[in-house]
Amino acid sequence: MNFIVDAMLGKLVRWLRMMGHDAKYSTEMDDAELLAVTKNENRVLLTRDLSLYQQAISRGLNAFYIEGTTEAERLAELTQRFDIALEIDLEKSRCPHCNTKLQSASKEEIEQKVEKNTLKYYSVFWRCPNCGSIYWQGAHWKKIRATFEEAKEILKKKKKLS
Ligand SMILES: [Zn+2]
Repeated sequence: MNFIVDAMLGKLVRWLRMMGHDAKYSTEMDDAELLAVTKNENRVLLTRDLSLYQQAISRGLNAFYIEGTTEAERLAELTQRFDIALEIDLEKSRCPHCNTKLQSASKEEIEQKVEKNTLKYYSVFWRCPNCGSIYWQGAHWKKIRATFEEAKEILKKKKKLS
């Protein structure tokens, strides 16, 4: 599923990309441009702006109004609405900075760009062919998993209520 995300959801766009979704984002697009891209590229508009959401819906576009304030709440909403998987498989991930599909990289390819300790403790790396960013399942992965767990708990509660 391809998304376009409004300027208020900069964190969420990084999650979506890491989860393998094509998510367009720019802080420079105004409402008219966001609506045009939603239509022309057949994307789902994710927004925190109720009037933008209403404009999109009244034009028959695919849009979703994000109510949650934490990342976990937002991920839970998206999962409930679009049935997306709450997981990151770096084989399918896109670069959180530029939305380009990541490629796996050997240690030799990235050794100049990461710290020695990182090379010592990790052996599997991915690289963005566009912006050159390098990724691995480092210490921050714990936090990512914790956020997914929190989102799953929120989903469970939502299911009980409905
Ligand atoms: Zn990139």
